[in-house]
Amino acid sequence: MNYEDVMNLAQRRGYLIRSAEAYPNTPAGFWDYGPLGVSLRNRYVEMWRKSIVKRDEMIEIDAAQIMPRSVFEASGHISNFTDPVVVCGKCRSLYRPDKLIEEKLGRATPENLPDAKYDELLKEHGIRCAKCGTPLSGTKRFNMMFKVGVGPQGDEAYLRPETCQGIFADIPFLFKTQRVKLPKGFAQVGKSFRNEIAPRQGVLRLREILQAEIEVCFDPGATATPRFDVAADYELSIAKGDVEPVPTRVSDAISAGTVPNKLVGYYLYLIQSFYEDAVGLKKEEIRLRTLTDVEKAFYSKVAYDLEVRTSVGWLELVACNYRSDYDLKRHSEVSGTDYTVEVDGRKVLPHIFELSMGVDRSLYVILERAYRSEKDAKGGDRVYLSLRPGLAPILAGVFPLVSKDGLDVEAERIYEELRADYDLFYDESGSIGRRYARADEAGVPFCVTVDQDTLTKGEVTVRSRDDRAQVRVKTDELGDWLEAKLVSG
Ligand SMILES: [Zn+2]
Repeated sequence: MNYEDVMNLAQRRGYLIRSAEAYPNTPAGFWDYGPLGVSLRNRYVEMWRKSIVKRDEMIEIDAAQIMPRSVFEASGHISNFTDPVVVCGKCRSLYRPDKLIEEKLGRATPENLPDAKYDELLKEHGIRCAKCGTPLSGTKRFNMMFKVGVGPQGDEAYLRPETCQGIFADIPFLFKTQRVKLPKGFAQVGKSFRNEIAPRQGVLRLREILQAEIEVCFDPGATATPRFDVAADYELSIAKGDVEPVPTRVSDAISAGTVPNKLVGYYLYLIQSFYEDAVGLKKEEIRLRTLTDVEKAFYSKVAYDLEVRTSVGWLELVACNYRSDYDLKRHSEVSGTDYTVEVDGRKVLPHIFELSMGVDRSLYVILERAYRSEKDAKGGDRVYLSLRPGLAPILAGVFPLVSKDGLDVEAERIYEELRADYDLFYDESGSIGRRYARADEAGVPFCVTVDQDTLTKGEVTVRSRDDRAQVRVKTDELGDWLEAKLVSG
């Protein structure tokens, strides 16, 4: 199984659609979610909300996607949110120098080396334009924000490159209206936009991404969160660099200085355990890679990338950044608004620890994990998505064995009775084997078949997707049966 297998299935079954697929020359980096994709995404986001946001009593907001230039002057994106580019002096072809060096050397190159350093490396390794062979030099910066003009005068504004700026901008209002007691997490799910120079990794490198972000505001003088106890003995998958993770107790990681304080330790526990418990990944399939100074974003004091092992290598799903007081200080300076919060009579400018999750990539990982391919009884290939009932977009298919003798009427009756409470689909076209195969590919956990016994004994056959085991269930108990599967899975 590889990336292409997963994406082919996702497109065949309506999880993902290439944006504006009907049109030629559509730019890369934009994907649509089809019906099953939307449903999977909704379930995933709800799981995140329940396991992290609600559990930790965070405050969720939904800010505007377009914000004025001054917000991004404050955030530093106007001057710092850039990627290096190099343009061929002869044929004007455009490249990312870091990617060219990476391809040449076969290992990752940091995105934010000084421009002169890229030129030096390009020269040292004799890297030339792929089209015309001219040696490449003259690295410069390209700002990756999408600029928009607001109103008829086209006032300068930008599509936000990260959702958190909406949270930061709203902080004074939130402090005023929500009786905030530090530490406090603020959460947001929404689109962010990054004008990537040449995205080539399909759904793994998008120009329009869905983020689920958490910004924890805390008093830097009080980092002993009362919830720390549940996290103290939990083993984080710490990786110091591009190496295998080493299970390290949170309290040991703090003693060793790998994690700066209890608050950061607690939130690293919260995010890693989400991928273990809710998503179902094993500890050794996750790593919290500590970033070096050159790898870190410009605002970051200490940073970890939560990465997951996939068929394309370790894939970053969550950026965990200790942003210090950088953001609130800057927003306070540029806006002229007081961003402090009162703690025991003192005015405190909160520090920020951030868990910035890429939802699209997380969903890709879920699909890749669920992808199964095996030989069926007749030697053909059977492909299915082993999504658990709580995540699967459709819980069950309802099929009449044949579309006659009243079986179709009874199957439709069962479908109509239960479809308001459960996500079901009705299918009577083709052989029962074909219908099973379609449902398997879509990741439907159960298929309910109506046969002669349904009419005479009031029983249906329920087939499970993964092991293809069949059980008889009383027709009038089918709702309870499905409910039990949903609750346990
Ligand atoms: Zn050239």
